Amino acid sequence: MVQKWDVVIVGGGLAGYVAANFLAKTPLNVLLLEKAKQVGGRARTDIINHQLFNLGPHALYKKGMARTILEELNITLEGNTPKLGGILIENNTKYVAPFSPLGLFKTTFLNWKERKEWVSILIKIKNSNRDELDTKTFHEWVHQSTNSEKVRSLLYIIGRLATYCHAPHKVSAYVVISHIQYAIGGVTYLDGGWQTMIDQLHNQAVISGVEIQTKSNMKQIVKNKSDQFQLTLSNGDCLQTKHVLYTGAPDNLNNVIAESFPYLQRNFLEEIVPVKAATLDVALEKLAKPKQLFAMGITTPYYYSVHSKYARLSQSGQCTILHVLKYHHPDERIFGRQEQTNLEAFLNKIQPGWQEYEVARRFLPQITVNYRLPQVGERKNFCQSETHISGLFIAGDWASPDSILSEGAVESGKKAAIEIMQKEGRSSHAT
Ligand SMILES: Cc1cc2nc3c(=O)[nH]c(=O)nc-3n(C[C@H](O)[C@H](O)[C@H](O)COP(=O)(O)OP(=O)(O)OC[C@H]3O[C@@H](n4cnc5c(N)ncnc54)[C@H](O)[C@@H]3O)c2cc1C
Repeated sequence: MVQKWDVVIVGGGLAGYVAANFLAKTPLNVLLLEKAKQVGGRARTDIINHQLFNLGPHALYKKGMARTILEELNITLEGNTPKLGGILIENNTKYVAPFSPLGLFKTTFLNWKERKEWVSILIKIKNSNRDELDTKTFHEWVHQSTNSEKVRSLLYIIGRLATYCHAPHKVSAYVVISHIQYAIGGVTYLDGGWQTMIDQLHNQAVISGVEIQTKSNMKQIVKNKSDQFQLTLSNGDCLQTKHVLYTGAPDNLNNVIAESFPYLQRNFLEEIVPVKAATLDVALEKLAKPKQLFAMGITTPYYYSVHSKYARLSQSGQCTILHVLKYHHPDERIFGRQEQTNLEAFLNKIQPGWQEYEVARRFLPQITVNYRLPQVGERKNFCQSETHISGLFIAGDWASPDSILSEGAVESGKKAAIEIMQKEGRSSHAT
């Protein structure tokens, strides 16, 4: 017996669950497939030695669309906002970061002329019309905005911080500036980790009648004679559905679409470049230097932040959870052992002797932070969620024209659900 559905959502991450929650408000019968044992995708939180580890550092924009959409779905988002501040590091020199009024006053990184320029650029970013940035790379925008090398390096730092993209020559100024605008509005570190969002979305979807199947890897999509999709899972099961919403990796979409589809986006999907990072997630009994809560490398692309200072992330309640991360350049070759040594060395500069207090750690040499590095001229490819194959929709952090990260995932999940509802409305009116 082939099971029949109105909508099958492929992927139980943020995009899939947001779509499932919107579709759950309709009479459509919806199935969500997740290939992993656990749901959540990259928004999951793992418990290691009683400590809650997000998959690397995770911060939710306070002024972004994702928060608005999640709140529209009645998702509770508890946690706190980290204070602006911290330090900037170049080799063994530390500077106060000019990210707060006090930091701006105290820093020795900038002279007075550069401080004035930095402030006026931040105001320019806050007020900038991002539509005018659509044709520029972030590098071009930075070079047109200032001649100061120091101010340029600060712009690259906040660009990395806001987007995780470390390729100013390639990345679109439109996306970077809009995410810096969000970042200026502050972020929240979530109590209990990002899994709390997923758990709430999951429970609501199940209560509203969405069927969720984990350990279900969708291997192939074909269309049958009655214009329905036939999905094959890796365990050999077959499903039939009117609509498919795919939220997995873009390069894998080509593999699951059978050759018979005249899929015009094929080449374009193959050209999408991911944004990657190396992460070191650490739980410590205590911090050797309790005041050092945030740091960024100046020319070396490193990040450090103590998330448990602002969010409950320890089941025992006694440990400090911090994240160290290196932003990878897309053309860089990654050597795992070297990455680990470098991340540990960066942490050593901020918390010397941290190993003495270690309770748990996890190192990941190259995790995909975002499935797409947003490049100039690409926005038009993502204006619609429906692909050239009628009834096949896409969502995920790579599938939004305007946003990336959780912003892109949540926004595109909602958009795809609305497009499916509209299409369904049209076809039920027609019959
Ligand atoms: C280190 C790191 C730091 C980050 N920091 C931030 C941050 O500070 N702020 C922010 O906003 N975002 C951050 N992000 C990004 C954010 O986590 C992701 O953008 C978001 O979780 C992506 O959601 P998604 O649903 O698009 O994709 P995913 O979470 O990847 O979900 C897709 C799901 O589909 C499943 N799947 C794929 N193919 C199939 C198939 N064939 N069959 C069945 N299931 C399938 C996968 O197993 C996965 O669970 C970070 C990510 C990382 C890795």
